[in-house]
Amino acid sequence: VIQGIHQIERLPIGFRAQMIVGNNFFETLDEESVQLVSTAWATSQRTEECESFIVDYRQDEKQHTVQGRFVPGAEGEWLCLLQDQSALFSCEQQAFELEFKDAATGIANEKQLLSELGSRLRECRDTNTHTAIIRFSATDLRSFEATIGRGGMVKLAQAIVERLEIGLESYLTRLQAETLRPSHLIARLCDSDYVVVLSGLDSFEFIEELATLLLRRLSTSIDLDEHICGIDWTAGIADTLDAPPTTDGLLSATAYAIYSDCALPNGYRVHRYNSDLKARVHHDIEIERLLRRDIADGVLEMHYQPKFDLSDLSLIGMEALIRWNNAELGFISPAKFIPIAEKSGLIISLSHLVVEKVLDQIAAWRDEGYKSVPTSINISGIHLNTRTIVEELRAGIQQRRIPPELVELEVTESIMVDGVGKAFKNLNELRDMGIRVAIDDFGTGYSSLSYLKDLPADCLKIDRSFVQSITSDPTAEAIARAIITVGHDVNMHVIAEGVETAEELNKLAELGCDSVQGYFTGRPVSSFEFTSFFEGARLAG
Ligand code: C2E
Ligand code: CA
Ligand code: CA
Repeated sequence: VIQGIHQIERLPIGFRAQMIVGNNFFETLDEESVQLVSTAWATSQRTEECESFIVDYRQDEKQHTVQGRFVPGAEGEWLCLLQDQSALFSCEQQAFELEFKDAATGIANEKQLLSELGSRLRECRDTNTHTAIIRFSATDLRSFEATIGRGGMVKLAQAIVERLEIGLESYLTRLQAETLRPSHLIARLCDSDYVVVLSGLDSFEFIEELATLLLRRLSTSIDLDEHICGIDWTAGIADTLDAPPTTDGLLSATAYAIYSDCALPNGYRVHRYNSDLKARVHHDIEIERLLRRDIADGVLEMHYQPKFDLSDLSLIGMEALIRWNNAELGFISPAKFIPIAEKSGLIISLSHLVVEKVLDQIAAWRDEGYKSVPTSINISGIHLNTRTIVEELRAGIQQRRIPPELVELEVTESIMVDGVGKAFKNLNELRDMGIRVAIDDFGTGYSSLSYLKDLPADCLKIDRSFVQSITSDPTAEAIARAIITVGHDVNMHVIAEGVETAEELNKLAELGCDSVQGYFTGRPVSSFEFTSFFEGARLAG
């Protein structure tokens, strides 16, 4: 029975409410605490020593901790010393959160991910089940910070996590209907990367479907106080069936999967790790390393492929095509290394190099007195989107006193369609300067003939795939015919690429195509060999 109380106000309110003289001390405690405190009381009685106990309870959404101990007093009395330890407890809690939670979103951070993944992998080994992870990587997050600020970046991260949580929960609920429910965790690995861990199942056949659904959710633009953020995501999947069953092994497998993204045509951005993918990525990384070195060492050269007028077979231009002959790997096709250069950012220095070389060559031929025909340069969408491309070309042609009509840029229609960037504006400025623009690979992208009139272009190149089957496939012929008709309607020059036979050439002439380029009329050759096309000027037959 409580005989007296002293400085009780130092205890949390809920705890001290019942501490009234005359009350039975044990009856003031909740059921759980009674057990603990009684044990401590009994021990103290027996040993006549101080015995401490801890009482935890929640009040007003807050966790409170009171530490107490029994101390023998005079004349058979016992003192119970009680101390509010809630502050200490919440400090510990905060320290835990600082260390293991992502500050912006409150989900697990890298440290917690690693420790959690480690313990799940051990558990899976013991239970003979598997673990899978999906890693979502944003390719261009950094660019938002300038407009939305750090505060906006925090909100953006929260919106991303919310989408992941809702998407994952609804998918797992559906799976539960099939009595599959993996244990899951969402973590933030770094600013741009989020990871979903799933464990405790025999297999993860559904994982690509889940990754695709989540990716779709993440890819819808996020509306943040007047700023609309459309983020580009790639997903990498790894599971313990195909990847090494360690934290590092799984995480780097997702990194491989994400890196492999450039090897595939645009569209599908979910990649699942396997050993083939690893080998391919290794090869790509090696190509990137050698390309970087060979760009610096000046190993790359330009070749030129002639273009001929279909009415009189006269030379009307040429296309500059890059050639890379590496000392170790031999000849590597630009179709292989250009996407790798685009992925790694090397494309910008490569593209500068191409522009310089081609402009030098145009000036050299002019100085040697050859017939002047336009030369086209393939320009990557990444280069076209830079702030400096217009000035770069302006300075380049002015320094060499090249008439701008002798320079044509070949760009693919895809950059026009997702052309929210500067591409459109840059192309218009370049055309105002007098430089010509051709739409490359026309018909293979998301092309719609109806937007053709809005394109800042002078020329359409019918893609090789249509030319290849133009004499055998009526659909290919119909498409080529349509491209030619609509192109002419909007005053564009229409050229067919990849012409390999006389039959193809005749068919194109019949359809009213303006010009041709292909192995049949001339393969890409070195600048030295190309002079024979100037001299021939007109093709025989
Ligand atoms: P592209 O712009 O469509 O270039 C035409 C490709 O078709 C060239 O391949 C050319 O050699 C090839 N070709 C020409 N006539 C025929 C033919 O009759 N039959 C067949 N089967 N092929 C023919 P290449 O040189 O391997 O270039 C592949 C791609 O690499 C190019 O496609 C272009 O997208 C890119 N590329 C090439 N050079 C550059 C460059 O300097 N800069 C950039 N950004 N990309 C380049
Ligand atoms: Ca081209
Ligand atoms: Ca092409």
